[in-house]
Amino acid sequence: MPKVLIATEKPFAAAAAAKIKAELEAVNYEYTFLESYTDPADLLAAVADVDAMIVRSDKVTEAVLDAAKNLKIVARAGAGFDNVDLKAASARNVVVMNTPGQNANAVAELTIGMMIYLARAKFGGKSGTELAGKKLVLFGFGYIARLVGRMAKGIGMELYAYDPYIANEVMTKEGVKPLSKVADIFKTGDYVSLHMPANDETSRSINWDVLSLVGDDFTLVNTARKELINEDDMLKAFAEKKGFRYVSDVAPDNLDAINADYADRIYCTPRKMGAQTLEANVNAGGAAARQIIGFIEKGDKTFKVN
Ligand code: NAD
Repeated sequence: MPKVLIATEKPFAAAAAAKIKAELEAVNYEYTFLESYTDPADLLAAVADVDAMIVRSDKVTEAVLDAAKNLKIVARAGAGFDNVDLKAASARNVVVMNTPGQNANAVAELTIGMMIYLARAKFGGKSGTELAGKKLVLFGFGYIARLVGRMAKGIGMELYAYDPYIANEVMTKEGVKPLSKVADIFKTGDYVSLHMPANDETSRSINWDVLSLVGDDFTLVNTARKELINEDDMLKAFAEKKGFRYVSDVAPDNLDAINADYADRIYCTPRKMGAQTLEANVNAGGAAARQIIGFIEKGDKTFKVN
């Protein structure tokens, strides 16, 4: 029977662990949990005879892959997979998968919650503004953005999106108006919410070129990645645009500098909280187990990322 290691420095919630066990027991797979380990040597020992691994943010390095002689698949329970050495995995014929979309609702709810929180002056006793009637542009139109769009529509926001890799019809079907130029995103939105990956094309792309275009009352929302932002340019936006606001689940490195002068116009979670819900944990854990089973039983590589 295939053996699966669930290696989690930060353990799954009990309900998520139970979901994984149920999925694996249903197909008679063996499994072991290595939880809350602090010594990387423990991971090296635990992978020695397993066919598959489920990890969260655990580092799957070349050394781990070398120690795992029978390993065929690593399933990262979550969206990002920069904790897995993809090149080293590919070189050893190990398939790496993520579980896209499984935490999308959690991130989307946080996105809307943070928008309301800052719009209502952090619930601190001062009068605020409403989201209804405001224009929201979704920058990127993947799993999270679509759910944010649906929730924002319920609130009464006017919706736009920009995603060069998604057909306009997908947006219009969701009641979202497609934009075709990056400049239009920033000229149009009262709110712009970032939902694209950080890569060579997008990193530091939120710079003064685009921030200089925003209106007098504007909120940038970032639950994606801090690398998307040119932080010096954002500081300039705070200084030059009195109605510039920022809410983020991925705090900038210059948060202290911004807080020093503009604390009432910024809110950042103390650490990345987007996917931190019980439901997202259960969804991602269950999906990781099912994807491993699908791959081992049927060769299904749907969510392969390497
Ligand atoms: P997704 O892959 O479903 O969507 C990303 C979208 O971005 C895709 O539709 C893609 O076509 C689009 N895109 C790529 N390059 C683009 C570009 N240059 N301009 C515009 N759009 C572009 O991913 P998702 O699950 O919706 O996640 C979106 C972002 O949120 C990612 O950056 C992800 O890392 C981040 N995320 C954060 C948390 C958190 O805890 N805060 C959790 C999950 C994901």
